[in-house]
Amino acid sequence: MSNFFNQRVKTEKSLKREIKAAYKRVANKYIKRLATVNPDTLTYEYLRQSAKYLEKEYKQLTRELNKTVEKNIKKTVEGYTQSQLELYTSLCPVISKSWEDMFVRINNIVLNQIVSGNMYKDKIKLSSRLWGNNKETIKTINLILTDGFTSKKNSKDIAKDLEVFVNPDYLKEYELFTIHPKSKNKIDFSAYRLANTYINHAYQTATKECAKHNPFVETITWVSGTDGRVCDICASRDGQQFKKNEVPLDHPLGRCTLITDVGDLDQVAKELKDWVNGKPNTGLDDWFKAYDVNVNKVV
Ligand SMILES: [Zn+2]
Repeated sequence: MSNFFNQRVKTEKSLKREIKAAYKRVANKYIKRLATVNPDTLTYEYLRQSAKYLEKEYKQLTRELNKTVEKNIKKTVEGYTQSQLELYTSLCPVISKSWEDMFVRINNIVLNQIVSGNMYKDKIKLSSRLWGNNKETIKTINLILTDGFTSKKNSKDIAKDLEVFVNPDYLKEYELFTIHPKSKNKIDFSAYRLANTYINHAYQTATKECAKHNPFVETITWVSGTDGRVCDICASRDGQQFKKNEVPLDHPLGRCTLITDVGDLDQVAKELKDWVNGKPNTGLDDWFKAYDVNVNKVV
């Protein structure tokens, strides 16, 4: 399990870097493009074209981002179901094929729920959320231009406003300019927030689905981080045991962990062994039946 959690932290960090780099690439292209124009003859029309150009670039970025996030969701869900598969196979190896069938099915159920948007009450898909975010970016770009035009701001300064907005790590020296208030928004942040939250919810959904019909699990314990960045909600949830079907999804950018309370593993192994050897156990019957998985018992 700890392997899975280490992987999750790594995924988060690399995703953050990857998203920032993608925005940085667009910003660099814009800056390069701008450098070819004489700042004194920069026209409003040229700025309008720049906005169109950026719109095209962000469309492409969003398409790629969608793929990246989907890939990371898949990796996370598979990582979790794989860790469960390994645990139960180690507890009862004689039915390893049935375990595999079951967790492959669970894995597919979870991925379906996530891709279809069914993980959320509003059923909004990941791609719609990412395109919504892209729309906001384009809106901000156009707002920066329109405000600049109507206030008769120098075109050089408007170009700078745009540059500050599109650059994920704009330099503090730009504070010297009278920049547009929206330019100070971190362009890569909301995309990262969305991606991170979606992946975290995918992990939580996988945890819940793995526990759903598992007769050894009745509760799931919420474990919060212990550093100073933990919010009040999560701090109050830390250590709290939820009924397995009542675990809430974490808030955006949540970092909390869910631990399924599986109880004494020796006892679990014994119960599984007895069942495979013919002792009746409706809980276990129902678990495998829920996923339509056959078990070849020893007797
Ligand atoms: Zn929190």
